Amino acid sequence: MSCGVEDERTFDYDDYEGAQARWCPGCGDHAILNGVLRLFESKQLAPERTVIVSGIGCSSRFPHYVSTYGFHGIHGRALPLSTGVKLARPDLDVFAVMGDGDCCSIGAAHWIHAIRYNVNMVAMLLDNNIYGLTKNQTSPTTSQGHPSNTQPKGTYLPALNPLTATLGVSNASFVAQTADWAPAHLAATLDAAYRHPGFSFVRILQRCPVWMPQLFLDAAQDPAKTEILVHDGGIRDPDLEAVYKTHVQHDPRDLDSARHLAEDATRVRLGLFYCNPENPRYDETRRLPMHTAEERIEIIESEFDRHAV
Ligand code: SF4
Repeated sequence: MSCGVEDERTFDYDDYEGAQARWCPGCGDHAILNGVLRLFESKQLAPERTVIVSGIGCSSRFPHYVSTYGFHGIHGRALPLSTGVKLARPDLDVFAVMGDGDCCSIGAAHWIHAIRYNVNMVAMLLDNNIYGLTKNQTSPTTSQGHPSNTQPKGTYLPALNPLTATLGVSNASFVAQTADWAPAHLAATLDAAYRHPGFSFVRILQRCPVWMPQLFLDAAQDPAKTEILVHDGGIRDPDLEAVYKTHVQHDPRDLDSARHLAEDATRVRLGLFYCNPENPRYDETRRLPMHTAEERIEIIESEFDRHAV
């Protein structure tokens, strides 16, 4: 997504810090915020040319905690807002932050079309499998049988799988999964997502110790419980692969294999599932010069003539 920096200024981590984060102690959002700020610093993004857009939910507090431009939007609308920003100002770097209720429920239609439009941005789904802000309500990604305040006898339906859902949409171009408790992997994934020219969808498994204390506990405490997708064309980090020793060879150009690997939600798999930088982008297509300046004037004048009384 890189737009680059055109001046001589340098930026430190502190330059990107906004208000003090008010998430609960131990919330995975703190680590994700740290990962995003580190990405901004490593890429030396100019704060005034960087935009974070969010919807509603715990994670959607994100723009307040980053000292760039931000837009704390309305529920489920982070993606159309981000798309609008990017189309109006293609020179800006745009990051969308969504929760699972936000993206996969009320925002689901926008999610599908944002994938298909493939506008150049990084879209992060911070998935804690619950509505946290509204206090323990079943979300689309809550696992079946899990009791919540809205379904106290257990969530009725099987959980929606955001990876297979994204991989099922035509023109999906970048789909990755990482976790808040694996900072090196989170950093490498955000870096790859930022470099990808198109709509980079990153699902970040996020712990919520208040409402979902058992969620991801095994995987977070024992690296052997996590599988890392490895491939020269994927997300590589030798130090990380030394810690996470269960590797799965996967070529991220192979969509069928990506779907197959994403289907098994009983395993925690981190890595780049799919990447195709050649997919058409709406923001690029829209910029193609369809007519010369003279032709445009001629068309406008003929329209005036047609409607003149
Ligand atoms: Fe994080 Fe959960 Fe607290 Fe929300 S309720 S801030 S998701 S720990």
